Amino acid sequence: MREQLQQDFLTHYGKEHQHTYFSPGRVNLIGEHIDYNGGLVMPCAVTMGTYLLVAPNNDGVFRFKSVNFKETAEVAVGSSNVKKEQFWFNYPIGVIEHFNKDGKELQGLDMLYFGNIPIASGLSSSASIEVVTAYALNDLFNGGYTKLELVKLAKWVENVFIGLQSGIMDQFSVAFGEKDKALMLNCDTLDYQAVDSNLGDYLLAIINTNKPRKLAESKYNERVQECNAALAALKQELDINYLCDINTETFNKHKHLITDKVVLDRATHVVEENDRVKLAAKALNDNVLAEFGRLMYASHHSLSTLYEVSGKELDTVVNFCKPNADVIGARMTGAGFGGCAIALVKKDAFDKFSAEVTEYYTKEVGYAPSVYSSLIGDGVGLLPELAHA
Ligand code: ADP
Ligand code: MG
Repeated sequence: MREQLQQDFLTHYGKEHQHTYFSPGRVNLIGEHIDYNGGLVMPCAVTMGTYLLVAPNNDGVFRFKSVNFKETAEVAVGSSNVKKEQFWFNYPIGVIEHFNKDGKELQGLDMLYFGNIPIASGLSSSASIEVVTAYALNDLFNGGYTKLELVKLAKWVENVFIGLQSGIMDQFSVAFGEKDKALMLNCDTLDYQAVDSNLGDYLLAIINTNKPRKLAESKYNERVQECNAALAALKQELDINYLCDINTETFNKHKHLITDKVVLDRATHVVEENDRVKLAAKALNDNVLAEFGRLMYASHHSLSTLYEVSGKELDTVVNFCKPNADVIGARMTGAGFGGCAIALVKKDAFDKFSAEVTEYYTKEVGYAPSVYSSLIGDGVGLLPELAHA
């Protein structure tokens, strides 16, 4: 694949590239819908992501080309940029705009992107392209940003330049990810701990339901409101800022204050899920994958029944996984109502798993999922160039 990309660069720009950068996508292993409740998430970088090949030019322009999209673009160095319609190159242009805003000196650059991660499927190809661009420019032109500043810069691109509201988890995990580590992260304080996550004989299967994620945004806002209602009720007796400031034991002593059954269910998910993340970190750290898998199923069950953000498609995947001896745990990941599920699957059974889950899902849902295998990979970086044959 790297050889092919080098060839693509040569064909498109008529010269050799000089450097190759890579930024992964991410999945959240556990800790869903609790980041906005002061809780802990536990994402990891995956081994699929976005490659960026670059070569400087003397023409005073940035040129953008992506193997994944047909549109190309060119903007002058130092020019002020605004978002243009819905084109993909808004992502790198937004990054450049932030460098401009901060008065950083940039020079002309020819760029070629390639994502081998499913795009617009919830694995954060957007954070991946933002972070790979920011990292490359910072590295090539001595931008002087720290990695955390690059994360915040990329989030600015997503939230302000592109205009999509989202937390910092995505940019953080693709930048700070480490091979065979999960990141237990508080999205408010950005305190995090890299948790040893040796998957041993297992890999991370990613099952994209291929369901358009229509409901996610309105339901997301509804859940935020329900959590606020639960918090307000608990505050009558407890001095807390977030639902995740208390554990399940304390919650159980005070939950009588929440009179609405639905609000109580939502809060129960939040508090228990936060406890599950801590147990999951311990299970991974102790290398007890079976316990981690059990927590994945418990997380999914809670998201499906208490938080009600799953749906037939995601439930179908997890229902297929549960009785399967080659699968140790599975759950929906991301906001829900579609998007992806993840499963820990025996490495040597992956092909069989992929064929069987596809068949089962297609029969139940009416169209096929996409199934990928991944490991827990490194965060953004400069790749060593291939040795010339
Ligand atoms: P997700 O982050 O879940 O993959 P988004 O809709 O947030 O989905 O981001 C996808 C968008 O990011 C694409 O439509 C495109 O504009 C941009 N993008 C991601 N990867 C690439 C790539 N390899 N080449 C060009 N644009 C990309
Ligand atoms: Mg995105």
